[in-house]
Order: sequence, then structure tokens, then C-alpha cells
Amino acid sequence: MTAHRGQRSSAALLESAILDCFDGVTALHRAEIVQRTGLSRTVVASLLSVLTARGVLLMTHVERTGTPGRPAFAYQLRSAVGPVLLIRVSGSALGLSLVGPGGVRDTAAVAVPSVADSGWVDGVREFMAKAEAAQARTRHVVISAPFPVNQAGEPAYPSSPALGGSYDVLRQAVEGVRRRLVDALDRPVLMVNDAQLAALGEASFGAAVDARASVHLSVRHGIGCGLVLGGQPFTGPDGTAGEIAHVRITDTGPDCFCGGTGCLATQFGTKDIDLALAGLYGRPLTPAEADALVAANDPRAVGYYREVALKVARALAGIVTVLTPDVIVLDAELGPAHVPFASSLADGLARYCPPLQVQGLRLLRGRLRDAQAAGAMAYRPTGEQRLPAGRP
Ligand SMILES: [Zn+2]
Repeated sequence: MTAHRGQRSSAALLESAILDCFDGVTALHRAEIVQRTGLSRTVVASLLSVLTARGVLLMTHVERTGTPGRPAFAYQLRSAVGPVLLIRVSGSALGLSLVGPGGVRDTAAVAVPSVADSGWVDGVREFMAKAEAAQARTRHVVISAPFPVNQAGEPAYPSSPALGGSYDVLRQAVEGVRRRLVDALDRPVLMVNDAQLAALGEASFGAAVDARASVHLSVRHGIGCGLVLGGQPFTGPDGTAGEIAHVRITDTGPDCFCGGTGCLATQFGTKDIDLALAGLYGRPLTPAEADALVAANDPRAVGYYREVALKVARALAGIVTVLTPDVIVLDAELGPAHVPFASSLADGLARYCPPLQVQGLRLLRGRLRDAQAAGAMAYRPTGEQRLPAGRP
């Protein structure tokens, strides 16, 4: 009797040693579990298959675009991996992505002729219902906000003449979408800054999983920066941490809509690099054409990326010197432009930062096809950031 209970207890102890490795967010590879528990590979493999068969753990496929290092399969707690719905607001349409443990499972676009219109709300509801019929109940809805969001899930910057009319229009559109969905969906509806979502995605499932402090740079569709410290997003007390576009990089630059002068944001005619390149060539360019120009080493396209990277280095130098991140992850969407961008960024950081402060710094290519989607999956509202509404 005692021996029998002892066997059961030891099996339970071994299982709990495995489960103690999981923090509820991070997916772990088998080798990491072996390292953390100190158990043999054989014992860990056997326990993982028992826990997976019982449905406590899920095997997940970690989506990557770069050269794979460790195996792409990992394990996660099932209780932490219900799918989430990511919503991106783009012009007068919404991009919907249902994201599960294996990455993006389904996407759709819904037109929003006006926020007051009810057709688009039905469209979101139908997409979610269809996805849930095939999958599982959606854990929460994340609206990706192209502006800083404070701890309460509200826009960090209030309406202000200094911020300009276009900011107000954008903020009101995103907030309007959020308000309608809070009323219409019986799920928590959260709002999170887009650059911070991407940073959390790469830190949780991509290039920066092993980093103690990582900085993620969004580049291709506007310069943005997200910080992840010790696996947690760092957004500052009011949600505005990482606003690299408003670092002053020149004393002679023009006034910026933020109220500052000579900000990084004032140095480019448009924040979208493909549009900027199209301006240089005097003709429209598809993203694939822009990539092809860089891949063919076209001097104008390569030169533009180098110029952008040098200016970003100037803005980033202070953060890097003070924070000493171990990893800077560069936008996976850079594609072939990663090479000239990374090389010029490294040159710039070497020029503007003390050598000892950057000796351990790695510049890595983003690994995820959709870092924001991965970030939505990993995102957990903290105690401070209460769910704005909706019934959990
Ligand atoms: Zn500014």
C-alpha cells in the first residue's frame, strides 16, 4: 500500500516538476525542459507524451521564417493556449486574424464604411463564430493600436492640437471600433500598441526567446520600437515607452507633430518605406518589386535603407547605452533589406555608443511571419491593466 502510494506520488511529483517549468505564456522545447528539471531526456520525453495525451500540454509548432536552430516544435499549457482574435485597423477596413498556438489559423478583411454602421460588427461576429466552431473559444480580442496605449488600455495621448488632426481621426476610429466590439462581443476586448505586440511576439516565440532584455524594431511600415525585459513587455508608467520616432536626432530639424523638434519621425517624407522608395523611383512599387530592387543591390534602394538605419542608430544609441539589451530584433518584414539595414545600424551603433556597452549586443533578423499575431497570443493583461470591458 505504502509502496503503491509512493509510486503514484513519485509520478505526480515528476509531472509537477515538468509543469512547474511553464509560466503560462512561454512555449518550451524538450531540451529546455530537460535543462530546467534536471531529469533525463528519456524521462522527460515519456512524461511529455503522457501529459500531451491527457490534454494538459499541447504540442505547438512555432512559426519561423529564418534558418531553424532548435526544433520548431514546443510544448505549452493547454489552459494558456486558447485562440485569440487580432484586429488591425487599416484605412476603412479591419484585418482579422485568428491566432492559435501554431500561429495564424484564419484571416479575413471586413470593410468599415463608418463606425456607426452595424454590418461590420456582424462581420467580426460571424468570423469569430465560424472560427470557434472549428477551433476553441476565443480567449480575448486584441486591437492593434498604431499609437501608445496606457495601462488602462486607453490611448496614452489625449486629443491635442499639437498632435494634429490626423492623429485624432486615427485615434477616434480605433477607439470607436473598440467601443462597438466591447458592446457586441462577450469576450474581453483589449487594445495594445502595435510595436509592443511585435516585440512581445518575437520575445515569446521568435528570435528573442533567450534574451534578458530585447528591443524590437518595426521598420517597413513605420519606425516603431518595443521593449521586453525579463519576458515581460515594458511600456513605462503611461504606456509610452519605446517611442523611438520622437527621439530628437538633429537640432536643426523641423518641428514635429508631437510638439518636439528634429524627431526621427520628421526625417522621412512618409513612414512607409515602400512608399518612400516609390517616391525615389517616381513610379508605384509593389512590396515584391521593392524587395527585388534591394536583392539586385540597386544603389538607390540599398542607399535608402542604409540612410534610414543610420538615423535609427542615432535615435537608438541612448537607449542601447543605458539599457544594454542583449538582443535587437529587426523587423522580419525587411526581407532582403535586412542585410544593408543591419550592417548600417551596426555601424551607427558602433559610432554613437561606447564599445564596452555594445560588446555583447546581437542584431537578429525577426523570425516570425506575423510577430504581432504571436504577441497577441502571448499577451496577458497585468493587474494594472484591467480588462476595459466585456465578460471574460
Ligand atoms: Zn516628434
